[in-house]
Order: sequence, then C-alpha cells, then structure tokens
Amino acid sequence: MRCLPKIFELDAHVADLIAAGEVVERPASVVKELMENSIDSGAGIITVEITSGGMTYMRVTDNGCGIAPEDVKTAFLRHATSKLRGAEGLESIGTLGFRGEALAAIAAVSRIELLTRETGAAEGVSLTLEAGEFRAMSPAGCPEGTTIIVRDLFFNTPARLKFMKSDRAESSGVASAALRCALSHPEVSVRFIRDGKPEFHTPGDSRTDSCVYSLFGREITAGLLNAESSDERISVAGFVSDPSAARGNRSYQFFFVNGRPIRSLILQAALEKAFENTLPSGRFPACMLYITASPGSVDVNVHPAKTEVKFASDKQVFDGVYYAARGAIERGAAERGAGADDAGFRTRSTESGSGAGTAAHLNAEGGKWEPGGRSAGAARDSFKSMQIDEYRRAYNSIDKNLYKDKTSNTNSSQLPSVGIISESPASQLSNFSIYTSVDQLRVIGEALNTYIIVEYRSSVWLIDKHAAHERIHFDALKSGGFEPMSQALIAPVICRLGREDAALLLEEADMLENLGFTVESFGDDAVAVRRIPAEIDISDAEPALSEICAELGRGGAASPAGLDNIYKMIACKAAIKAGKSSTAAELEALAKRVMSGEVSQCPHGRPVAIEMTKAMLDKSFKRI
Ligand code: ADP
Ligand code: MG
Repeated sequence: MRCLPKIFELDAHVADLIAAGEVVERPASVVKELMENSIDSGAGIITVEITSGGMTYMRVTDNGCGIAPEDVKTAFLRHATSKLRGAEGLESIGTLGFRGEALAAIAAVSRIELLTRETGAAEGVSLTLEAGEFRAMSPAGCPEGTTIIVRDLFFNTPARLKFMKSDRAESSGVASAALRCALSHPEVSVRFIRDGKPEFHTPGDSRTDSCVYSLFGREITAGLLNAESSDERISVAGFVSDPSAARGNRSYQFFFVNGRPIRSLILQAALEKAFENTLPSGRFPACMLYITASPGSVDVNVHPAKTEVKFASDKQVFDGVYYAARGAIERGAAERGAGADDAGFRTRSTESGSGAGTAAHLNAEGGKWEPGGRSAGAARDSFKSMQIDEYRRAYNSIDKNLYKDKTSNTNSSQLPSVGIISESPASQLSNFSIYTSVDQLRVIGEALNTYIIVEYRSSVWLIDKHAAHERIHFDALKSGGFEPMSQALIAPVICRLGREDAALLLEEADMLENLGFTVESFGDDAVAVRRIPAEIDISDAEPALSEICAELGRGGAASPAGLDNIYKMIACKAAIKAGKSSTAAELEALAKRVMSGEVSQCPHGRPVAIEMTKAMLDKSFKRI
C-alpha cells in the first residue's frame, strides 16, 4: 500500500498560489476583481488600461476612498477584507467583494505597484510587491483614490502561463470583463484603454440607457425594447432585443443581480422561453437585464469568482425575467401594430423627437438621450392574468429541456409520423440492408417539397432529402474527403459577433479555411467574411460562424466531439433544404446514394429513409 508523507500546514505563499488559481484565471479576472474593488471603494470614475492582452501591463485607477497607509499591507493578506466582519454579514453582502482573496491572489502571481491616498489625507503611499513578497513602501504624492498596476502576470507560474491564449484573445477577454463591469454600474464612469487606444467611455450618469448606448452604439440599441417587472422580492429592469433584432449567438445577453454580472442558466432559460416562437432557430435575444433581489433571497457566496449566484427561489427569478421580457415583446408588437415608432428603446433616426415622446429615445440630431420611459405596469398586469397557465407550463418544462444538446438528441420515439406505417417497429424504419445495385430504383416524385418517393424492389420508400444530403456532407467532412469549394463574396459579410467570439474565430482561422471560410479581422468586435463554403447560403454565413464560436467556446475544435458538432452544423447548412423544390436529377442522385446503403441516418440521428413494404401496404388496405 502507498504511504503518504506526513501532514504539514501549507505555508502562506503556497496557499496563496493555490487560491490564485481559483480567483485569477487570466488577465480578465484580474481586471474584474480590481474594478470591483474600485466600485466598492465608492469611486465615480474608473480608468482601465491594458497592453498586450494584459499579460504585461494592466492598470486600474479610481477616485474612490483610498486605503489608509496602515492598512495597505494588510489588504494584500489572504482573507483580509474591510467588507465583512462576522459570519452573519455574509447573509447581507452589500459590496461586490467580501472574500478578501483577490489582492492576495493577484499579488502572488505578478509584480504589483500600488498608489493610494485616502480622501482628505495630506499624502498617499506607494507599495510594491513581487510574487506576493513586499518589496518597498514609501509615502507618495498622488491623487485621492487608488491606482493598481499589475505587471507580468503569471511570471512565476510558468505552467499557468502556458494556458494563456494569444494576446488578442486575452485582450478581448479583458475588454468584455471591463464592459460587463461598466454595464453593471451605470453610476460609475468607466474608461477603457487598450494598447493606448481609447475603446469605450461610459458617462456614469446612472442611466442604463446611456450606459448601454455608450458601450454598444446605435445599431444594437436601436433594436432594444424596455423591459421591466417586479414583485415583492425580485424586480427586473432593463432591455431586451426586439425579436427582429435578435443575434446569431448569446454574447449580447447580460444579466446583473444586485449589481453583479452573473451567468445563469435559469435566467437565460427564462429569457429564451419568453422569445419562444418569435425567433427562428439559431437566433438569440440580446438583453441587458438588471435584477434586484432582496438580501436573503440570493446567495452570492457560491463561486470563487462570484460569477454565479444561488437564488432562494429559482422560480421567482424565472418569473421576473420571463414577465419582463414577454411584456416587452408583446408591447413592442402592439405598438408596432398601432403604428407607433417610438416604442421602448427602439429608435428611428429619421423620426426621433417627433412621436408621442413617452419613451426614452435617441435624438438623432443631438445624439442625446431624452428622458421618458413609459410604465410597463398596465401591460404587464394584463399579460400576467391572461397567460398564467401557459407560463406555468413553460416554467415546469424548462429545466429539463432547454439545455439539452439539441444535436445529440437522438430520440427514436420521435420518428416522423406516417399514419400508414404506424404499426411498424421503430427498428424497421432506420435499419435497412445494404443494397448493392440500385438500378431498379424508380423515383416517383417528391412530396411536400421534402420527401422523395421512391419505388424500389417491392417497397415504397420515403426519403427525407435534407437529412440525406446532410449526412452525405457530414461523412465527407469527417473522412477528410471534403474539398472546400469556397465562393468568394463580392462584398465581405461583416459579422458582429462580439469581441470574444471575433477573437476566437480569428485564432481558428486555419481550421475555418479548411471548412471553406475565410475570415479577417474587422474592428475589434467583428470579422469580415470573404469566402464561404460553396454550398452555404450567404444568409447562413453569420449563423454558421456564431454556432462555430459557441462550439469553440466549449473547447470545440480540440475534441473530436466538438469537431463533429461543427461538421454537423456545416453539413446541415450546406444541405438542400426541406421545403425548397429540387430538380429531378438532384432527387435521383440523392435517392441512389441512400438506397445504395451509403447513408441510413442523418448526423443528428434522425432516420433518413423509411420503408413501406408491399406487405405492409397490402395489410393496411386489408388486401391480405
Ligand atoms: P475584498 O474585495 O473581498 O475585500 P480584496 O483582496 O479584493 O478583498 O481587497 C482587500 C481589501 O483592500 C478590501 O476589502 C479593501 O478594503 C481594500 N481595497 C482593495 N482595493 C481597493 C480600492 N481600489 N480602493 C480602496 N480600498 C481597496
Ligand atoms: Mg475585492
């Protein structure tokens, strides 16, 4: 038997290094923690500056309360915090930080310079640390507030350094962390500078609409609707996109709970449920939703980076988000129907300033927000009483269904319902023998622009033309036998995927090239697509790329399963569509490939062809 060595307590530095691994994953997490400290310090202005993706240099400056000279060293000790005294305080955290871990963790893996001066103090203090060790401390003349400079992140942990992505990817990670922070606190003016270039600057006027506008610009904000709902314990306010302005992925979905950016499946599920049946598949609503939950109804201490929370009642927050979004969509539709152009957050540059003017809207000439903001109360209440049953069903079904990987759903009980063969066992439908000769095959025609009807030997076959074509593509991609035939686009398609996704795609440009896509960088949150696979429709370019991003975000191209998912998606988009008419030659070629046994299931596991034998037909017609 193996014998473990004697047990010792870890020394503080090693413990800090281990903790650092949880709190500080990459430059983005450093910037997030430092910005949160600045917000907690009561700052009204925060400036964030980074170079080379933050790996060599990150600076966060605030005009907050500063740190007293006698406290500066303590601030860098593990579990040192001014924000929490006893365990009872954990129930009602009013600050973003409370774990007292961030500064210790960041210091353990970088070189730090701190400059801070307390409000009203005659002078400030400067402190330097390296790999968690104090180097120097001295009085310093500096403005009120705090500046922290973090250099050479992970210089003393080479193993972690290896996990860093390109500067470009890290840099966009930082940009999105800074953006989330800025968006979560519209009362703070945040300026973000990347490699010497100013990237965004929020006004800090406490208005969510002006904050959103300064971060996302006109195109995104023009498609937003006001959303709100409230009950005793949860209130929701903010914006959701009009269904017509939905995005190709979820990177524009932002949820904030009590001022914290939060990732939450339950919130995402509620939002997307509200949009059900208003969006085609592959389109996702955008949102910036600010949720206020009474202390005690939300636990923020469940994740080291505090990006997840636990709600006392998932159902209650689901309700809040669902009603807020649903109400916004209904109102948007109603107002559009009534011919009002100034509904909610939606703006029309030519008409702004003219309409009834009850909604917050952008004045095109001045580029300024005009106050207003209609009350959603009446519309929401009537909606609530009308739809309550439907809503309850939605809630009850959501947990189980929404996040199942749709592509792996191979539920064989969901076979196409063809009345005439309803008695046949499922196995018979997808399982057919390999035919070597298909000469006797006769294509009778096509039904519903979807199913090829084939007579073959003593059976009639229905072939799902899309599923069959998709499978053929998928197999070719997977076997490497796919020669990407690209079509060059006359004008490049600009896909605004968000910073992180754009960077992700550019990193995988070679893999995309193999699939037939040529992408180039276009600003920092978009890519220009110059070529796409020959069989993909131009309107599918952006949805395809955002699906690839989603897969890459999950670790995609590195795993065979991830690559399969990408192949499936391309195969699906490249395949002839059900519902569109095809030529006789196309139908025959497809039918031959299916009947020769080349394909039996689509890549998603649905059957490609179903057989009605003469015997089955005869039996159904009571001939035998
Ligand atoms: P936490 O935020 O969880 O308290 P940190 O390690 O992030 O832990 O910070 C430790 C302490 O240092 C804070 O509690 C706060 O008192 C002080 N501090 C950190 N950053 C700032 C800042 N920008 N302005 C004022 N005080 C700060
Ligand atoms: Mg903190």
